[in-house]
Amino acid sequence: MTHSTLSGNKVRKLEFLLADAIQQGCTSVITCGSIQTNHGRATAVAARELGLDPYLVVRSRPADVEQTDNYPCAGNVLLDRMVGAGIIFAPYGSQKESLAPRMKTLADELLAQGQKAYVIPVGGSNQVGMWGYIVAFQEMMQQGVLENYDDIVLGCGSGGSCCGLAVANYLLGSPLKIHGVCVADNADNFYQGLDAELDVLQLRSKVAARDIIDFVDGYKGAGYGISSDEVYDLVLSVSRSTGVILDPVYTGKAAYGLQQMMLKQPERFKGRRVLFIHTGGVFGTYTMSIEPRLQETSSGQVVDWNDSLEPLPTLPKNLTSI
Ligand SMILES: *Cc1c(COP(=O)(O)O)cnc(C)c1O
Repeated sequence: MTHSTLSGNKVRKLEFLLADAIQQGCTSVITCGSIQTNHGRATAVAARELGLDPYLVVRSRPADVEQTDNYPCAGNVLLDRMVGAGIIFAPYGSQKESLAPRMKTLADELLAQGQKAYVIPVGGSNQVGMWGYIVAFQEMMQQGVLENYDDIVLGCGSGGSCCGLAVANYLLGSPLKIHGVCVADNADNFYQGLDAELDVLQLRSKVAARDIIDFVDGYKGAGYGISSDEVYDLVLSVSRSTGVILDPVYTGKAAYGLQQMMLKQPERFKGRRVLFIHTGGVFGTYTMSIEPRLQETSSGQVVDWNDSLEPLPTLPKNLTSI
């Protein structure tokens, strides 16, 4: 329920990250991710709203590099370019090896030009960004939402949202069980990352990551950003039956994971009231990756009624049930 172009979970982290940037007197912001990074788009838009210059260092494939001069404006990239973000292609590698050193060198170069840059890691997931979802949990509690649930399920990409919720839940006496469905990386690494955060918060002596969150492996599919027909079909079935738009990269995989867990291990959630947090990602659907599946399943048929009023054409399949 955030504004349209900032939509999604990243705006909550940016509330804290960009406040820090402004407090430090920065004039530009550098962050990183995949080309279609929702976090990068939200950062770029929010930076412009605050008068900061945005730079996005993104993982690219050779096919992307070939199109550098005329890169297609699909999905998040359209908005990135509309707000004039500097998009910088880096090799397709890890944050540590490919993205972080380029962000550091760019920040140094900008500083030499008199511009102080604020560097944000992938997904905005660090100790500052994590506060976004600590406060989100507090907000849900104050609004009386949490009393109605026993479990929270959400997608986990860079870990910050899950970690924030887990820490807040722990500090408030752990009324709920939090499940993070991994759509990138793996559960072990997320447990390690949360243990490191607990260390910094001086909570590690009291509690371990595994005690306060359930990171779920097995639903990443063939890889981050790669979706299966099963995920596309769930996304379409949810949009057709509820009007809620899931995206194939995050919320779609997380919902698919939840559905499969409920089907395969019914005892896991039996009798429990589950809150699924929709973390955003609508612009990811605008890359059109779902289009072939949409055509194959004839979702929302187009029919021609250019002819006279009688006889009626065959009505679109999905509408005949209304
Ligand atoms: C980034 C993102 C997530 C994952 O959140 P993390 O805090 O990075 O784990 C989930 N859903 C969407 C739509 C996202 O953009």
